[in-house]
Amino acid sequence: MQPVFDGHNDALLRAGAEAIAAGRPDGHLDIPRARAGGLAGGIFAVFTPSEEPELIEREDGWESPLPPALAPGVAAEYALRAAGRLFRLQELGALRVVRSVAELDRCLDDGVLGAVLHLEGAEAIDPELEALELWHAAGLRSLGPVWSRPNAFGHGVAGRFPGTPDTGAGLTDAGRALVRRCNELGVLVDASHLNLTGFWDLAATTEAPLVATHSCAYALAPASRNLTDEQLDAIGASSGLVGIAFVAPFLRADGRDDPDTPLAAVVAHVRHVAERIGVERVALGSDFDGATIPAAIGDAGGLPRLLDALRDDGFSADEVGQIAWGNWRRVLAATWRS
Ligand code: ZN
Repeated sequence: MQPVFDGHNDALLRAGAEAIAAGRPDGHLDIPRARAGGLAGGIFAVFTPSEEPELIEREDGWESPLPPALAPGVAAEYALRAAGRLFRLQELGALRVVRSVAELDRCLDDGVLGAVLHLEGAEAIDPELEALELWHAAGLRSLGPVWSRPNAFGHGVAGRFPGTPDTGAGLTDAGRALVRRCNELGVLVDASHLNLTGFWDLAATTEAPLVATHSCAYALAPASRNLTDEQLDAIGASSGLVGIAFVAPFLRADGRDDPDTPLAAVVAHVRHVAERIGVERVALGSDFDGATIPAAIGDAGGLPRLLDALRDDGFSADEVGQIAWGNWRRVLAATWRS
């Protein structure tokens, strides 16, 4: 079976370690379904939720207003527990937390799911970055400076359809310092929830390839969370990648949050990015357990159906292998220190 590396899931938000290890009746990702679908590696998000203002429906789309910044201390406490859950999964033998490409390769050889610890929004880290050192020592290898709501490191992208990613100010000085220290430590900096200004701030600051772990193409679906062709070009020029998200409203030209979204929609976004910046710069970033995904995929067990759809669309076996695994491995190797 073709192994898959997936750029983003929110499973740690949804269930305890025992349920993720043994399997659960709902949601998208647990160990039995990962095994069934060939999910062999993935970025596991630690995300501190806050009460989200209600979605505003419009005639031609929607707007999701941003929640305010978190109160100090909330994320630090929440994120410690959620990260602990990932290490509990390791203790259960359900997965291994990987800190290097050598460890990821070993997971693949051993048939054990390799999990990358990711902070989606860096609120758990103080603006002086002292906690970053501890998180890195514990295994953190990926972070997004912001999940869309504002924090000390910057402003994120507000959710809008239709609407461009140009929704406000970008990274702060603390945000730029965070990017530089992540470069030094070999921690991937995720562009997925940055707005347009923040994206260009990141591009001007980072020395690593530009990576959007879970986004789609704005040219096909004009959601503010998606990447414009100019952003794709910058990602291509840096030899980074885009993990195509399976998020219905980011995939669909009408922006509807509808699970009745065909596999062809995911394939079209993969195809667009491949044609624009090269097949070696497109990969997968499901957003399992974080969004409405196409029923045709359903959950992690449905990944082979997506790979079949890519083959049916004309991607060669080699190209499908790159999209599913090789491209992520290359970018992680170029970003991490080992
Ligand atoms: Zn996200």
